[in-house]
Amino acid sequence: MGLFHCPLGAPYYDDDACIDCGLCYAKTAEERVEASRKIREYMKAHAAHTSAVSKVAVCGKGGSGKTTAVALLTLALKEAGRRVIVIDADESNPGLGRMLGLKGEPRPLSDLFGEDGLFSERERFSMDEMPPGFVAVVDGARFMEVGKILDPFQGCACSMAESARQIVEKLELKEGELLILDMEAGVESFGRGVERHADTVLIVVEPSFESIAVAGRIAQMAQGMGIGRVGAILNKVAFEAMATRTTQELGKLGVKVFGVLSYSPELAETAFEGKPVCGRASIDEAGIIIKAL
Ligand code: SF4
Repeated sequence: MGLFHCPLGAPYYDDDACIDCGLCYAKTAEERVEASRKIREYMKAHAAHTSAVSKVAVCGKGGSGKTTAVALLTLALKEAGRRVIVIDADESNPGLGRMLGLKGEPRPLSDLFGEDGLFSERERFSMDEMPPGFVAVVDGARFMEVGKILDPFQGCACSMAESARQIVEKLELKEGELLILDMEAGVESFGRGVERHADTVLIVVEPSFESIAVAGRIAQMAQGMGIGRVGAILNKVAFEAMATRTTQELGKLGVKVFGVLSYSPELAETAFEGKPVCGRASIDEAGIIIKAL
């Protein structure tokens, strides 16, 4: 397998960073599973335990409402006085920038972190060093995106996922700054190790069997990476009993619930019309989730 995929970032087999997990030379599914187990154990044992929330990856099944949740959390975080940096790390779905009120799009981060990109060799960097064109400012929040698959035969999304992985790992945050990422749907990003330098994983869950099942898998993978703060946000909840049942089912999978975003006709209307998110009640619910973290 390509060394690019080493989950521990080792540049080659037998490098100092290599723990000889066996993934590089695994030939069978059993060997790959065993290598993953060794990596999870290593990451758990070496996880940086921090109480501060600073790098938040928002994940979940496709259609669960991750993007809307990220937009609402961004508004609530700004109200709470955090300097928010938003990354659209979903290479398929457009819409996060628009939901935040952004007109136009910044240059994709895959240009910056790609083979010939300015930041491809950088070890660390801060937001002050980001070149012009890659960061858009919308109502005080800074917004970046990894890029989108737009054309047939464009190629795979590896460079975009790698950009997201590098920014989570290498961006040095200053006092009050908080990075929040809208991840691609499902568990592929965990397979790539994109989230492993995040301190918080929020799983957006709609009340459905599939969404709960995916949340269980994501929580298991995030905890296996050594991420200390992992939990769910219930979304599109229409009535209290629905929240209670979903919380119970998630509890059986060991997934804690940080809060609820209720179904909102106002949000549904803005989503249909492609307008920025709004709604005092929804932003207040997002604020409760932030406090719960
Ligand atoms: S054996 Fe494992 S730790 Fe070593 S380089 Fe390969 S994937 Fe990375």
